[in-house]
Amino acid sequence: MTDKLESLNPATGDVVGVHAVDDPASVDAAVARARHAARWWTSGTFDERRQVLDQWSGVLTRRMAQLADVVHQETGKPHGDAQLEIGLAIEHLSWAAAHAGKVLGRRRVPSGLLMANQAATVEYLPLGVIGVIGPWNYPVFTPMGSIAYALAAGNAVVFKPSELTTGVGVWLADSLSEVLPDQALLQTVVGYGETGATLCRADIDKVAFTGSTATGRKVMAACAESLTPVVIEAGGKDALLVDEDADVLAAADAAAWGAFSNAGQTCTGVERVYVHERVHDRFVEELARRARRVHAGTDADAQLGPMTLPGQVDVVRRHIDDALSRGGRAVVGGPEAVEGRFIQPTVLVDVPEDSTAVTEETFGPTVTVARVRDMDEAVRLANGTSYGLGSTVFSRSRGPELARRLRSGMTAVNGVISFVGIPSLPFGGVGDSGFGRVHGPDGLKEFTYAKAVARQRMRPLLALTTFDRTPKADASFAALVTALHGRASQLVGRPLDLR
Ligand code: NAD
Repeated sequence: MTDKLESLNPATGDVVGVHAVDDPASVDAAVARARHAARWWTSGTFDERRQVLDQWSGVLTRRMAQLADVVHQETGKPHGDAQLEIGLAIEHLSWAAAHAGKVLGRRRVPSGLLMANQAATVEYLPLGVIGVIGPWNYPVFTPMGSIAYALAAGNAVVFKPSELTTGVGVWLADSLSEVLPDQALLQTVVGYGETGATLCRADIDKVAFTGSTATGRKVMAACAESLTPVVIEAGGKDALLVDEDADVLAAADAAAWGAFSNAGQTCTGVERVYVHERVHDRFVEELARRARRVHAGTDADAQLGPMTLPGQVDVVRRHIDDALSRGGRAVVGGPEAVEGRFIQPTVLVDVPEDSTAVTEETFGPTVTVARVRDMDEAVRLANGTSYGLGSTVFSRSRGPELARRLRSGMTAVNGVISFVGIPSLPFGGVGDSGFGRVHGPDGLKEFTYAKAVARQRMRPLLALTTFDRTPKADASFAALVTALHGRASQLVGRPLDLR
């Protein structure tokens, strides 16, 4: 008997979809179909691929409300928030389709004086079949960060959505089949973690994984068996810094959205805030005022939905309890903010830096705010984490300088999570937040391999790579290298000026 997977509405517990789980044989069959589609897709031009992907963008745009309904039902997030992530995903799809040719297409590169007789070119060729494994928190935007770029680069995709948002995954693959009914360019395989593990061991050319750091480790271990490369987009513990000269109201507004939107279930959500002591009290007051205006629920005015993942409620409760039992204070919310699957916004202050509320990813609508003497201390504390996904800086005079000192893949200056809406910017982390990049030119290249070609245009002046090489050629070569690089050796010992 085939196993069934029930998709539930997290707000009501209602079953909103029943899907047959793919066993290993059917995952392998999907990969084989994808391999066939990839051959066809690669044989086309960038322009032809762009036309198909633009048609798909059109379908997604026209059906945005319908897809938003599926996202709303499976995650519980407000319809408007679902629409926001779909709109941004469409923007990325269009960008990837439009820019793939320019970023990946063949181009001449200098061949250098020593190899002046050669014409050198580089291009970025598709890998083949990409396995995409996605999370549930942004079930359209997040996997599309890999799917759109992998397809635009000329690959076929087999997508294993989170078991909590299977309906969204099936909807996405069906919508592309409307444009391309005869080619299995994007297929969804259904299942739990086991299905993801099966996909990692299938005959694929790369895995793009987005999810928790713990699962990322398992994905990497499975892929190591066959030397299958991976992109890991994992969790975060993002910090927001507020400088003494910052626009405090704007910073409080950004902190509220960054911490509470999507009920805090955002990989680049704001989980920690470090505020200059001169503006700390005013910032906390403004943040608290905003937090009190936001509420989680099922009513039409609710800006926050439920915790999509049942187990997350306990994590959030544990972090709040740990913060309070170790001397922290809840300015808004607290333990009573946890009302079953719904959690009301919680602002915590005076929390020790080694509390789990500060050290572990909470993934709920809570935020810690700490007072700092200066921005050096803020940078040090913000960087005191094994994660390094996103970060935010509010400062009128030092934004870019502070941004650069933060160990994170992306930083928003005087805005929040703004980098995700700019398709030409790469997205990804360092440390426990993973490695590799989606979005932008780097995101396109992530799903390709560099192909270098050196073509001999004329016979070399110096025949060096032959057993007929003469002592004269050796001497000429030594003289040439000395002429080209000898001057640098005279500088050895002099102090370097690296400004
Ligand atoms: P998760 O790690 O539990 O699951 C992610 C996916 O991996 C799911 O599809 C799951 O079925 C699959 N999976 C589970 N075990 C597997 C295995 N052994 N082999 C292969 N696949 C397996 O994560 P989640 O709860 O769905 O998502 C939340 C996490 O994702 C948070 O940590 C969040 O920060 C992170 N996230 C990161 C980004 C990013 O871009 N960096 C974006 C969104 C979410």
